[in-house]
Amino acid sequence: MPGAPRGWLFHRSMANRDTAHMESATQTTDAIRVPPAQAVQPVENEALDRFLTGTLTVAPILLLGVAGWQVWNEALHLRDLMILAVLYVATTFGVTIGLHRLLTHRSFKTGPKMRALWAILGSMAIEGPVISWVADHRKHHACSDTEGDPHSPHHGHGEGPMALVKGFTHAHVGWLFIHTQRGSKERFAPDLLADPVVSFVNRTFFFWAILSLLIPFGLGYALGGTLDAALAALLWGGAVRVFLLHHATYSINSICHTFGSRPYDTGDESRNFAPLSLLTMGESWHNNHHAFPTSARHGLRAWQPDPSAAVIAAMEKTGLAWDAVWVPKEKQRQRRRKR
Ligand SMILES: [Zn+2]
Ligand SMILES: [Zn+2]
Repeated sequence: MPGAPRGWLFHRSMANRDTAHMESATQTTDAIRVPPAQAVQPVENEALDRFLTGTLTVAPILLLGVAGWQVWNEALHLRDLMILAVLYVATTFGVTIGLHRLLTHRSFKTGPKMRALWAILGSMAIEGPVISWVADHRKHHACSDTEGDPHSPHHGHGEGPMALVKGFTHAHVGWLFIHTQRGSKERFAPDLLADPVVSFVNRTFFFWAILSLLIPFGLGYALGGTLDAALAALLWGGAVRVFLLHHATYSINSICHTFGSRPYDTGDESRNFAPLSLLTMGESWHNNHHAFPTSARHGLRAWQPDPSAAVIAAMEKTGLAWDAVWVPKEKQRQRRRKR
């Protein structure tokens, strides 16, 4: 971003959904400086928030131990794995297509019903209310790997080999317990605060989180006919699915800012990490994403699978989405690092 100071930058165009189609983070001609205090979202009850975050992070791991016991007794059925797979795909797309590409970056436009559906599916990933998620992620892009980035593995962790371990842990899960660098909703997501559909889903987050667990429980009971079947489906389709999905998401912040290739010079440590591309529905092409934040496709090259982009393209073909941002090949070539 020539001429513009790095640090407390926020793209004014994020605040206006009609003008939010930036094609690159480099287009920050209208970037504004945000004082640190104003940019931080205060938390109402820090102890409660830490307790809930800890429970949501640790409980699935403990419950996986219960799953081992189940397998030992051959109490795991194909239906449990199918419920897990279907809900994993639906709620991961909720994060990648809904919270990330639609609501954070405005990679495409869609109507209020589809906006509600994507926001609900994203909420069912149980990664916090929609608007907080978006505010944190926009702050990550505005400050990527510099002061103010809520989850950089590189900034503020000291020097030496332990700094890498400390930074990686912070980026993966530690940052969830810290509230001094969260994105202010007023500053980073005024467009969503003003959106009645998204605000409603945001306010009713706990309902969608509980629904996300009730659905596998109900499916297990409907398909298996017993309370044991319902509980097994809750374990695999609820807890294990949330555990896998959370760590896939966390990996974008930790692994994809530490390991992998950097075809684009983005001024940060974002990287493309191919092994996670399918599990993250295309989000692990993270260096591509930092180079073209509003692009509907993160897997820009032909050999880079991106299931989320395929869904957006299908939505556009059927008229459910429009004005999707597809970065022209020539523009990608020009932006690529010279070797
Ligand atoms: Zn990033
Ligand atoms: Zn992003």
